Amino acid sequence: MEFVEGSGRMVRENEIRKAEVSVALPSTTDAGLIFIGRVRTPWTSRMETPRQGRADGPLCRIEVFEPWVAALADLEQYERIEVLYWLHLSRRDLVLQSPANDGTSRGTFSLRSPARPNPIGTAIAHLVSIEGAIVRVRGLDCLDGTPLLDLKPDRELFTPIAPPQPGDFQVGDPSLSPSFPR
Ligand code: SAM
Repeated sequence: MEFVEGSGRMVRENEIRKAEVSVALPSTTDAGLIFIGRVRTPWTSRMETPRQGRADGPLCRIEVFEPWVAALADLEQYERIEVLYWLHLSRRDLVLQSPANDGTSRGTFSLRSPARPNPIGTAIAHLVSIEGAIVRVRGLDCLDGTPLLDLKPDRELFTPIAPPQPGDFQVGDPSLSPSFPR
């Protein structure tokens, strides 16, 4: 386990720390997700997993499930891809968190902590190869076995293929529709 003298454990498992605030979760959810694959990484403990992935980090393997393997077509042309994953072991009820475990706290939405109401992790990963259902990348920071939500080209490398729409040219505060809240 990782300790810093005087401030307690600095990698969260499921504890609530001093200065943290949890809320009651709603009894129902608003949408369903489809796990489209599984991420295989060298890390089996949150105590070892990087806080953020790095481009020169270990090779990781993304296993895409059927029937989604066909959706990998054409992805290999992108040097970097955005990987979205479900941080499945996270708490979902914290609104204030103490990342340094030092008695101070910050709002969940001001952090990239895995503990959040919808524990979606995102990383820009460097694409190494795609062979069949297997995508190899560097740059991840999740536990082995983490469910995969989505893969997309890095937005900096992607130019929309569909024709532009009026909103693409709007800047500033164009005349708003009557239903737009002011
Ligand atoms: N790069 C992503 C982001 O910014 O959205 C995730 C960052 S999050 C700080 C990474 C940490 O989440 C890891 O260091 C580990 O402690 C934790 N973690 C990784 N995989 C997890 C999982 N499957 N369930 C819960 N926590 C996980």
